[in-house]
Amino acid sequence: MGKIKVKIDIDYTKCTQAQDCRKCVQECPTRVFIITFDDENYHDPKHWFIHPVFPQFCINCNLCVEICPKNAINLKVKKKYRKKIPIES
Ligand code: SF4
Ligand code: SF4
Repeated sequence: MGKIKVKIDIDYTKCTQAQDCRKCVQECPTRVFIITFDDENYHDPKHWFIHPVFPQFCINCNLCVEICPKNAINLKVKKKYRKKIPIES
């Protein structure tokens, strides 16, 4: 497993219909995101949500931020890697 160089935050007040959108899941070249659910709500797709399950794969390409129609994704490169943007995988 590689090091996590980018902190990926999803604003769930903006991303409210992940099951209908999934653009970040489709666009990310390194497959950082999945759509998932918690134990109580697994049966109802309205409650499914995006999770950056593999942040260590992020190459800081910014495609997810650009494609997100809700402006719900925030990327922050960790301090020690900031001089090396873009991050190499
Ligand atoms: S910045 Fe690029 S690699 Fe990182 S999560 Fe977004 S789309 Fe994936
Ligand atoms: S692209 Fe944005 S709005 Fe669409 S599922 Fe991903 S985080 Fe949610």
